Order: sequence, then structure tokens, then C-alpha cells
Amino acid sequence: MATVIQAYQFALDPTPRKHGSLASHAGAALFAYNWGLELVTARLDQRRAGQDVQVPWRLPELRREWNRAKCQVAPWWQANSKEAYNSGLDALARALKNWSDSRSSRRKGRPVGFPRRKKKRRARVACRFTTGQIKVLPDRKHVQLPRIGVVRTHESTRKLARRLEQGTARILAATISRRVDRWYVSFTVEVQRAIPTSYGKPSVVGVDVGVRHLAVLSTGQTVANPRTLEGSLRKLRRLNRELARRKPGSKHWNRTRRRLGRVHARAANLRRDALHKLTSALATEHGTVVVERLNVAGMVRNRRLARAIADSGLGELRRLLAYKSTWYGCRLVVADRFYPSSKTCSGCGWVKAKLTLAERTFTCETCGLVINRDLNAARNLARLVESVRGADQKPQRAGQVAVKREAGTGSDPDKTGIVEPQGLTA
Ligand SMILES: [Zn+2]
Repeated sequence: MATVIQAYQFALDPTPRKHGSLASHAGAALFAYNWGLELVTARLDQRRAGQDVQVPWRLPELRREWNRAKCQVAPWWQANSKEAYNSGLDALARALKNWSDSRSSRRKGRPVGFPRRKKKRRARVACRFTTGQIKVLPDRKHVQLPRIGVVRTHESTRKLARRLEQGTARILAATISRRVDRWYVSFTVEVQRAIPTSYGKPSVVGVDVGVRHLAVLSTGQTVANPRTLEGSLRKLRRLNRELARRKPGSKHWNRTRRRLGRVHARAANLRRDALHKLTSALATEHGTVVVERLNVAGMVRNRRLARAIADSGLGELRRLLAYKSTWYGCRLVVADRFYPSSKTCSGCGWVKAKLTLAERTFTCETCGLVINRDLNAARNLARLVESVRGADQKPQRAGQVAVKREAGTGSDPDKTGIVEPQGLTA
């Protein structure tokens, strides 16, 4: 048995009153964030002007300043749990740390800018509760949160409720957040899991994530997109065209944008659900799973819808595989970013100079192999491992955080449980 940290997220169906309470807490977090940012900026200016002032930078200092000022700046503060303000200040402390780490090159990746003021409409507002009454009610249709009280869930909480009843899970925190027009609660849960101590199966599978299909496996199996997702993707394309025709800022433009946001959220949910099923199957049925490394910097800049969807799918697939592989005793190998999985012939190893995204079939000019592009890529990924087999690697286990980065958890989903094949990184 090992202890892992897992997240369970449920969509909520709040009554109008509860809705107001949820919004108030998220708004309070946002308020504290912006208030703290203003304070830090003002203090930095004072210091630059030669004054000897303390600049609150970490959470304890920010909290101290907030407690001193709250009665003045937010006389209504008692309307919300103090954890709401804490969530906002925590997010700020983290943003400040990211900025200073990035400046002193302690943080990899693209440079992080100085935190900016969050706008109510754009911000991902969230409030995290760590103490008080946090419960999943036995009817499996309601959850209880501090200050907010009992809220109905949109879906059954049975997966978590079952574990809580068995005594194999303990709730550590609950985070409420809103995406598009729906509220969610995400529980951070400490779960006791039986984790295999050795790799069981010898089979290796390469996975290529696409747009036309959810994934193509090196075994030749094509995992289709769920039909509901296909519908959403069609709608997405139509609304995108519609938005391009509208005058920016107009009433119709805004309406189309709101619709687009809703369809986007639905497509993302459907896709995530399908990816959950796929990754569970992969991790339980195979000994080794090979996926491509995601080019995150390129992903952010690419504006093509199809590409963006495929990339987000790959990112999600990797995140899910990262923790499921440790749960089920399977090895996850991530191919180097520069490994030409699409351009290489899986038959003879010949590398094509150029392969456009439109070319759906790979034709080898050396051995004459004609093969579906995605299947070729998946086979190359699988081959990658067969060539480095023997380099013994152990799975990471215990204390893993298999959740999105959320206030207070401080985990990097990109680093969770990834086992790197040796000698593959350029
Ligand atoms: Zn060939």
C-alpha cells in the first residue's frame, strides 16, 4: 500500500443562493489577489524612490499585511471564509515567486512576466478550503463546504464516496472554481492504493495522439473520438468561422464568443473523459507505454485549432499516464522532442526530409512501405523502447500528486512520474 494524492472533481448544481455564495468566495479571492498586488507594486515603487520599506513577498507576510488592512479596505470581509482571501494571496505569492525565479533563471521555460491585475471576467477564480466542514454526503449527490454549506452536485460522487466509506481515502482540501458557466469542486484526497512493485507485462505500445482520432496505437488499433466529441468539434469549427465574420466588440460577436466558450468547455470535457478511459486501458494492459514529448512553447504560439486540440490532448494524455502508470505498475517513456516519429519509416528507418500535416499516408522511398501516417508514428514510438530495452528503470511511487496545479499543491504536472529513457535526450 502506498499513499498517493489524487484529485476528484465534480460539477456542481448550486441553487441561486449557493451560486451567490460561491461567486462571493471566488470574488473575495480575486479581491485579495489584486489588493496584494497593488500593495507590492506600491512598496516596490517606494523602495525604488529610496525609502526603507518592507515588501511583502511570501504568503505569511502578505497575510499579515492583509489582516492589518482588511477592516479598512474590505469592511465586508466577514461575509466570506478567511480561506478565500488566503487563496488569493497564495496565488499572488506564487506568481511573485515564479517571476523572481524566472528572472534569476531558477525557473526553466519561457520568461514569466510580473503578475498582472486579474480581471473579473477573464481570471480563473478559485477558492481553496483546507479546514472546516469539508464532506461528501452519504446520498452521493451533495457536498458540504465551509461557510457555503451543502451544495448539490451535478454528477454522482460515488467514486470518492466509496473510498471514503471503505476508509481508504481522506479529504485534505476542496477547491471551488468556475469554468465558463459552470461551478466545480475539486477535492484533494489522500488515497491508499495497492501499487505493484514490479513491471508485469512485457508488451510495449506506442501512442500517437491526433485530431481525426483520439489516438492510434502501434498495435494497429485506432481509438476513435467519441461521437459526441465529433459533434462538438464540428460546432466549434462553425462558431469559429461565425466569430471571424462578426464585428469585434459587437453584441453578436459577444454572443458567438460566449457560445464558443461553452462548446469549447464541453469538447474539452468529452475529450478528457475519453482520454481517462484510454489511459486506464493502456496502463493496465501494457508493460510500457511510449508517447511523444509535447512542445509546450510551440503549442502556445500555434493558433491552428486542429493542432491546438491535438496538443492539448497529448498534454492531457501524458498527465494522466504519468500517474496511472505508477498505479498499475507500467512504465511510461516520453520520446525526445526532436525524435522524428512521423518522418521516419517504421519499416526500415529511412527519414523523410519533409512531411506536411496534410499528408495522411507515409510512403517510404527506400523500402516502399505505404502506411497510415499516425500508425507509422505510433510504431516508431514503440520501436524506440525496444532499442533501449535493458536500461533498467524503476517507477516512482508514493507521495505523487496526480492533480492539476492548484492553490497550495505546488506540483508540476509536467514532471509527475515521468520516467525518461536513458540516452535519448539530444
Ligand atoms: Zn522504409
